[in-house]
Amino acid sequence: MFKRVSGTRDILPNEIESWQNIENISRSIFSCHNYHQIRTPLIEEESLFNRSLGESTEIVQKQMFLIKREHDVFAMRPEGTASIVRAYIENNIDKSQGFAKYYYIGPMFRAERPQKGRLRQFHHIGCEAIGSYGPGIDVEVIVLADSLLKAYGIKGYRIVINSLGCFSDKQAFILSLKVKLQEMRSDLCDDCKDRYERNILRILDCKNEACQKIIKELNISGSSRCEPCQAHFNSVRQSLDLLKIDYEVAPNLVRGLDYYNRTVFEFKHSELGAGQDALGAGGRYDSLVKQLDGPETGAVGFAFGIERLLLVANQQAIIAPKEGNLVYLVTLGDDAKNAGLQILSDIRQSGIIADTDYEGKSLKAAMRKANDLHARFVAILGSDELKEGVITLKDMANSSQEKVKIAELTRKLKGSA
Ligand SMILES: [Zn+2]
Ligand SMILES: [Zn+2]
Repeated sequence: MFKRVSGTRDILPNEIESWQNIENISRSIFSCHNYHQIRTPLIEEESLFNRSLGESTEIVQKQMFLIKREHDVFAMRPEGTASIVRAYIENNIDKSQGFAKYYYIGPMFRAERPQKGRLRQFHHIGCEAIGSYGPGIDVEVIVLADSLLKAYGIKGYRIVINSLGCFSDKQAFILSLKVKLQEMRSDLCDDCKDRYERNILRILDCKNEACQKIIKELNISGSSRCEPCQAHFNSVRQSLDLLKIDYEVAPNLVRGLDYYNRTVFEFKHSELGAGQDALGAGGRYDSLVKQLDGPETGAVGFAFGIERLLLVANQQAIIAPKEGNLVYLVTLGDDAKNAGLQILSDIRQSGIIADTDYEGKSLKAAMRKANDLHARFVAILGSDELKEGVITLKDMANSSQEKVKIAELTRKLKGSA
């Protein structure tokens, strides 16, 4: 027997309504903010991610699914931003429109160790606003993310924000961190010993208790920001205050990817557990477009993990599957079976969910099947009914039944649905 690849999931029909709910709500909220959907390929050139995420990041070092074909190496996309920036440049959006507001929904791939409870194929809902350095757009995407969570009905999340400053501020911060951590290097976990050289900011995200303790004692403050970066951050905060958005400032929130600068943020939820409590995250990436050979322009975005949203949504029981109003058609005898084909087609074309039994079951067996499917109505067509031009309609909600003219069946069903 074949098994699915470890770290992947089948999303079965009994869960799909929650997924579609999240997707539909997202589409409508993004549209209201004038964001338009973009769909980029699932595979890209490997070098796109090496250059954008950073050679030293864990994603590039360990987590990419690579596909080698002759002289090419492709990567299954590990996140959405790099592909969208690539598409923005390649399709000359910078020249035709300049400012672009995109959203996306789809699978991402990372070769993580599945035992850590992380999936190798997981799903993101996110957006990117490309073409502005202004703090107003940082505020817009944070408010947008907040509006999405509210629209999903999720409660109890926290918004955490920080500003990394510009790249020279970030460099200064990295240097001071190197100096501060120098003496405590040997007390860090093995991963962090490695991170010290390659990607020191990631140490601040480490979940290891010893590392957490060391980080706490560093008393990190946001003091390494230059004056324009501080003004940008102040402006973001003032607007969020004006909009009465609750947030916390966390000076050690850094996000691990190389391309982030200035505003970074996370939406945290305690029901996800201490180690991985982010529903989603994002930030500004003002150098990425130029780095991928596009024009110099500012950009900001975020992504939510759909599996994480659903985990919380299901715990809070907010996206309950609604009762279907299935009509189950039972025909008895060949003539009724033939007449039933048209009736079934008419019901479906009127927009009502309908099904039938193609196995020629007895009335009793067909009724049992209708029960299993939680049918709201059972429509029974036998030879007597066919002669009279009627159909027996049984309402399973109250067990009442009546004869309805076949010609009036869909109107009757629509009235009671
Ligand atoms: Zn700065
Ligand atoms: Zn560590």
